[in-house]
Amino acid sequence: AKESGRNRLHFFDPTLQTQVLHKAQLEHELRHALQTNECVLFYQPQVDAQGRILGAEALIRWLHPQRGLVMPAEFIPIAEASGLILDLGHWVLEAACRQLQVWQTHPVARDWVLAINISAHQFRQNDFVESLIALTQKYAIPAERLKLELTESVLIDDIQFAIERMHYLKAAGFGFALDDFGTGYSSLAYIKQLPLDQIKIDRCFIDGLPLDSNDAAITRIIIRLAQEFNLQVIAEGVETQAQRDFLLEAACVAFQGYWFGRPMPADEFLSHALAQEGV
Ligand code: C2E
Ligand code: CA
Ligand code: CA
Ligand code: CA
Repeated sequence: AKESGRNRLHFFDPTLQTQVLHKAQLEHELRHALQTNECVLFYQPQVDAQGRILGAEALIRWLHPQRGLVMPAEFIPIAEASGLILDLGHWVLEAACRQLQVWQTHPVARDWVLAINISAHQFRQNDFVESLIALTQKYAIPAERLKLELTESVLIDDIQFAIERMHYLKAAGFGFALDDFGTGYSSLAYIKQLPLDQIKIDRCFIDGLPLDSNDAAITRIIIRLAQEFNLQVIAEGVETQAQRDFLLEAACVAFQGYWFGRPMPADEFLSHALAQEGV
């Protein structure tokens, strides 16, 4: 069987074989990386209309000893496919809570909310709720400091389960953002059933601003929708002043993107914030 397996691989495009090996190798190394602190969280500022920092989105990075900085697009899909996303997700939550504990001691950072990306698999895990609450207790941080970013992929399989779990976590104090809004299906049907705090306008709509009239229309409609449902709305991927100006004009209330700051390590994030505040 091994022989035929090998022959079969030869039958395919060699680049595919290389890709498969590369994936297996990365998965093996990622498992190791989570235990040896090669992974690190970067923090990207989220700001209000006055440019004041509201908090950050935590974005994972892998500082690979040979490959250098590996971006999540390269390893999150591998982690999802292998189930490693559960360990990775827990690692992210713990690192985030540890960071919030540090921020609690800084007057400038005390009220920041940290947004965390939660994968569908992680959200549905049996002990997700318990382990999340246990972490906030371990690090003595209020649940209100954490905002869980969910995409529609969390909702599609079992919407009733997702709604119940969200309501439970909401009652415990956690916040929710609906990530990549506008890119999935039937988002509108969910909106009124979910205990959301925020919707994130996907970067693909911000990209075309201010000139693309379709993107402009969609962006205005999403902002209006958020107003009608009493949700905060944040634009992601804001890269230019022109995009920022359009969004301000359209009454967007929160912003994230390279124009305001790139994802950065925690110490850099704090200096960035202090410089911003003029401290
Ligand atoms: P996302 O949740 O949509 O995160 C936003 C992505 O846009 C981030 O990419 C961020 O660095 C990038 N970004 C922010 N501002 C700009 C901008 O102005 N221009 C452009 N071109 N890009 C911008 P990143 O960090 O590479 O993460 C990619 C995706 O990987 C994330 O997309 C998220 O789906 C996933 N991811 C990242 N960290 C985690 C994590 O801790 N757990 C899980 N489950 N997924 C994660
Ligand atoms: Ca996100
Ligand atoms: Ca997003
Ligand atoms: Ca996106």
